[in-house]
Amino acid sequence: MRTLITSSYRTAAELLGKNHPVAFPTETVYGLGANAFESDAVKKIFTAKGRPSDNPLIVHVGSREDVPSVISSMPVYAERLFDAFSPGPLTLVLPKNKRISPLVTAGLKTVGVRIPDHRVAQKFLKACGVPVAAPSANLSGSPSPTTWQAVRQDLNGRIPCILKGDPSRVGLESTVVDCTGASPVILRAGGITLEELRGIVPSTRLHKQQTNVPKSPGMKYRHYSPLAYVFIVSSMEETVPMKSAAYIGLHTTRGASFGAKRICRNEKEYARALFRFFRECDAQGIQTIYCEQVSESGIGLALMDRIRKAAWQ
Ligand code: AMP
Ligand code: MG
Repeated sequence: MRTLITSSYRTAAELLGKNHPVAFPTETVYGLGANAFESDAVKKIFTAKGRPSDNPLIVHVGSREDVPSVISSMPVYAERLFDAFSPGPLTLVLPKNKRISPLVTAGLKTVGVRIPDHRVAQKFLKACGVPVAAPSANLSGSPSPTTWQAVRQDLNGRIPCILKGDPSRVGLESTVVDCTGASPVILRAGGITLEELRGIVPSTRLHKQQTNVPKSPGMKYRHYSPLAYVFIVSSMEETVPMKSAAYIGLHTTRGASFGAKRICRNEKEYARALFRFFRECDAQGIQTIYCEQVSESGIGLALMDRIRKAAWQ
């Protein structure tokens, strides 16, 4: 299959309308989208990515008016979260609308819905005119793509179209919040922080993962891993600097020489850079990537979650 790489959201939306999967940019990471009402189209996402079919997909819409076509009800606290953080990197899990394909939700009665805060994504979604189910546009298990080139690296020849855009601004996936109970529960940390959510709904809490009983099915899979071994270190002093090793973090020690090194100004920049750095290291044949540990507050919670999953061999 030839993969068309285009800047035309209209062309991309036309292909999606013919039940083809299409990769598109968002502020979190690039997504691989298909019409969420059409099982035949959704099936192609799982095939292209090699994604396990029991891992549900997030449904993306262009605006608040489109949300009722995806869900069947919404508690008042979820409306307040949506008002505060949408469009943005926040996915709310709510009771699903009947029209959504069961493949999207892996048979669950709930669906994750999100409005991306991204100019091209919004134009594309509006042109599609249907809710778009979209996981990250990478091969299952590899780091999520934050550039269209990363999508091409993983899915060239496996999907018919990549809609081009700028590198993703957030660089980590959305925060997934279960809104089916009495108060919000974070199933996956992401671009909107626990502190920000608590600023709107103070009772918001983190889900305590129990082994083998994942509330969010995606939790049980290995994720975000480069080919290199990832080690978490508290400072550069804990590393063995050499050409086949790489370092990413906030602090540097003079003299240490690595094959690749990225010192970020703050946690936000670290989050934006992480997945791209993983891919660059793999392309360079790096064997070991040292990631500096950061405090698990603010975006640091999502950042450490992704680093830990990448280090989980
Ligand atoms: P991805 O799109 O690859 O970033 O993964 C989406 C994440 O959202 C996975 O961890 C899913 O398990 C989770 N998710 C999507 N829909 C639901 C749902 N209905 N209930 C719980 N978790 C969900
Ligand atoms: Mg993913």
